[in-house]
Amino acid sequence: MTSPFCVTLDCDSLASHHAVWGLPPPAAAEVESFFLRALDAADGWLRARKLPATLFVTGGDVTPAVLERLRQLAGAGHEVGNHTFSHPYDLASLDADTVRRELERNHRLLADVGLPCRGFRAPGYHLSPAALAAITRLGYTYSSSQITGWVYPTAKWATALGLRLRGRRTRTVRHPVSDWWTPKAPYHPDPAAPHRPGSSPVWELPIAAGRFGLPSVGALIHAGLPPFLFDTPGARPWIVNLHLTDFIPETPRLALSGPDFTLRVPLERRLATLDRILARATGQGRRPGTLGELARALG
Ligand SMILES: [Zn+2]
Repeated sequence: MTSPFCVTLDCDSLASHHAVWGLPPPAAAEVESFFLRALDAADGWLRARKLPATLFVTGGDVTPAVLERLRQLAGAGHEVGNHTFSHPYDLASLDADTVRRELERNHRLLADVGLPCRGFRAPGYHLSPAALAAITRLGYTYSSSQITGWVYPTAKWATALGLRLRGRRTRTVRHPVSDWWTPKAPYHPDPAAPHRPGSSPVWELPIAAGRFGLPSVGALIHAGLPPFLFDTPGARPWIVNLHLTDFIPETPRLALSGPDFTLRVPLERRLATLDRILARATGQGRRPGTLGELARALG
């Protein structure tokens, strides 16, 4: 049977995106409007195509108005997942107690407003032993944190180097080289080394590279590459990783659109590219689903 097509949306705040590109923090009013405008555009695109998505949320960054919008989206069939309380890019290097507090605090905050989480995505795309232990305690069924292959880590490293040469510094951290060997299909991770299979009861649903080595992440999808390069063999899930920047309208222009080329691509063109990828997945006979549904189907 063909595996599902899963759209995931990391709802990182505008401040987190600024930190990636070494920009000064944005104004508070801009932060809320970024969330609401991007969520509206994402909702419109997903709804018109009857696509359920998994939204990874950082509770410490969202205002009550954003939480209310997320509740509406959850009521419409989307899933909300845990993306830590404060989005530390260096989560993998924090001590186990701090990691547990980051995850439990976010879990409680979201559960208290009617958004219970069963899944997790690590900021910085690396599932550490401490994060795996924390989600096991929370009884989660899955993590979707690992990016497979060498293309994405290399592109990120090259971008960080480019920023440094221009005197700016990214807050993102480099992927451990061992992550290049993460399996492409869902697996139960080793609690001591979650990039490889082991005995954990939790599933890792990797953002796996497709047939040609490219994972389906927004920054690569909008780089002008032909959509067939993201084709994924039908036997494993096609997990697409998007951010609010993939949906934010290009006007009014944000400071972020200086360094982040995604925002300079007109929204209409970004959505048309996503449609071409969706058409390729549908052509393989895939059905859309959330990561929670995928983990349940895996058993
Ligand atoms: Zn994130």
